[in-house]
Amino acid sequence: MVVDKARNAAKVEELNALYRAASPQTVLRAALEAFPGKIALVSSFGAESAVLLHMAAQIDKTVPVLFIETGMLFGQTLDYRKSLTQALGLTDVRDIRPDPAELAANDPKNDLYKTSTDACCDLRKVRPLDAVTAGLDAWVTGRKRFQAATRANLAVFELTDEGQVKVNPLANWGKAELDAYTAEHQLPAHPLVAFGYPSIGCWPCTQPVEEGQDARAGRWAGSEKTECGIHVSRAS
Ligand code: SF4
Repeated sequence: MVVDKARNAAKVEELNALYRAASPQTVLRAALEAFPGKIALVSSFGAESAVLLHMAAQIDKTVPVLFIETGMLFGQTLDYRKSLTQALGLTDVRDIRPDPAELAANDPKNDLYKTSTDACCDLRKVRPLDAVTAGLDAWVTGRKRFQAATRANLAVFELTDEGQVKVNPLANWGKAELDAYTAEHQLPAHPLVAFGYPSIGCWPCTQPVEEGQDARAGRWAGSEKTECGIHVSRAS
């Protein structure tokens, strides 16, 4: 599909003007209405994923939800993906997996992360998600400004260099709002949160964090890497 970058740029401007300070629910509803049939949520079913998934389920339980199953996730995440999907009544959660032939060629021993986390994330996350989102005008993420210094300027609606729209309904929310929403709706927590993991990815690249650290400090700890690549522009 050829993305209409000019049209999406105009939409981003219009939607930010209308909704940059709106509630996450209003932003999410506006996004789903703006891109009917051409939008999906991307969820890691991680520590804070239940909030956005619950909001989506209140609007439309059939909204597509893309879950990147890298093959390196914690067993607790896979269990949580199943139980939370069922609890929220979401009917279209899709497991997005790396291409088996590419895995066999590039990471036959499942240890590429030891020598190149960038290559491993590209193989297991970026390429599989690109293949699915290429047919979309927009996708929704759970990113928030407070999560890390690198996300401090996150907009509610963003235009990627590829011409697609990324929607961040929770950009304005802090931990207090997330906790209050979770408590109000009695949302189940990811099992690893209780063990000090405020941000949860693949098991080789995720550690618990200390009190006062960025929520994402336990991701690729000890390296310069802060993002897996799915939120980094790849346009040439
Ligand atoms: S987070 Fe780690 S294990 Fe997961 S895809 Fe990236 S480098 Fe590989």
